[in-house]
Amino acid sequence: MNHFEYGPEGLACEGVPLARIAAQVGTPVYVYSRATLERHFTVFRDALVAAGIVDPLVAYAVKANSNVAVLKVLGDLGAGADTVSEGEVRRALAAGIPGERIVFSGVGKKRGEIAFALKAGVAEINVESEPELNLIAEVAAGLGLRAKVAFRVNPDVAAGGHAKIATGKSENKFGVSFAEAARLYANASNHAHLEPIGVACHIGSQITDLTPMRAAFAKMRGLVEQLLGEGLHVERLDLGGGLGVPYFNMPEPPSPAEFAVMVAEAVQDLPVKLAFEPGRVIAANAGVLVSEVIHVHERPEGKRFLVIDAAMNDLIRPAMYDAFHDIRPVIPRTGETTYDVVGPICETGDTFTRERALPPLAAGELVAFMSAGAYGAAMASEYNTRPLVPEVLVDGDRFAVIRARPSYEEILARDVTPDWV
Ligand SMILES: *Cc1c(COP(=O)(O)O)cnc(C)c1O
Repeated sequence: MNHFEYGPEGLACEGVPLARIAAQVGTPVYVYSRATLERHFTVFRDALVAAGIVDPLVAYAVKANSNVAVLKVLGDLGAGADTVSEGEVRRALAAGIPGERIVFSGVGKKRGEIAFALKAGVAEINVESEPELNLIAEVAAGLGLRAKVAFRVNPDVAAGGHAKIATGKSENKFGVSFAEAARLYANASNHAHLEPIGVACHIGSQITDLTPMRAAFAKMRGLVEQLLGEGLHVERLDLGGGLGVPYFNMPEPPSPAEFAVMVAEAVQDLPVKLAFEPGRVIAANAGVLVSEVIHVHERPEGKRFLVIDAAMNDLIRPAMYDAFHDIRPVIPRTGETTYDVVGPICETGDTFTRERALPPLAAGELVAFMSAGAYGAAMASEYNTRPLVPEVLVDGDRFAVIRARPSYEEILARDVTPDWV
């Protein structure tokens, strides 16, 4: 469920018409519903608890939507943060999420980033390779600390809707093999500056079938049992994120309740605490991208382009993952025609959709890209020197800009021309 419904002033986010936000903030603009974010987090966590999982760490994957206000909404409900860079650790801390609820993941953490995370007292650093383990040990020794590490294992299971977001096969760059994990775990247990606390996996994103997850979790279970059998200390099993969301026109994913029951069946009786890293399932359907029609361009041979003021730099998912976003007129319209919906960027890839059936629209009308709360603004850029898209958070009948659109002066001031040019 989400909080984007048509009301007397057209499509609204909770109690605020999107047209009102567009008039005040301009377009393109991302709009998030606080109630939806809270609901998605609560439903996910409560489903785990209802399935019998005691005190799960639900570490929201910051990369899906990293706005500090969004992180604070979730952190205030008890969410942790799954982070993949020093910048994301800093965002989580800025949102008031304590270090003990922050997980630091990612295949290429640099020395300075590791030091920052250790000083912030993160709950676990997920180790992706042996050289990384050695680097973490070295940095921890330099700081006189013991690094809590979990080993990210690549369970060699295929999952994830699109090749660019599948991470769980051995040919992908993520994690160590089961054999390596067991060897590294035992070695790390004897290291003065390492404290192995568990194992982790994350097999992909937008997963709409529980079968690969069940297979991966069974393998993870086997690893935990093996490590415990060797007398090693294991306190946490991190099962990653990846649960898909209902995008319009797409296979219906399993519900958080079905996911939680599967998890409980797979691993609940292990004597370890469980951690989860959901991103998309929390944020995707909590946000929309609102854009204005610039022109309707009809070719004599019949092709019709809806040229809008949002582009691939604002929402890259269609260009990068062939993603489908439902597009709705903000003010309801009757009738039907077909459009290729395109942005102003000088690339053919700047096409949101082809031959999409939509009501007839005219210049100046607003459209909303639904399910754009995850991997939308977080992946936006200023390509073509288009100001970074702003973000708005709605709470009931009030709203606030939570990231302002930069001015052209601010954008240009970041470039420096040396005096020898
Ligand atoms: C991207 C990612 C997630 C979140 O994935 P979703 O599909 O958004 O749930 C969780 N953990 C890790 C390690 C990731 O890379």
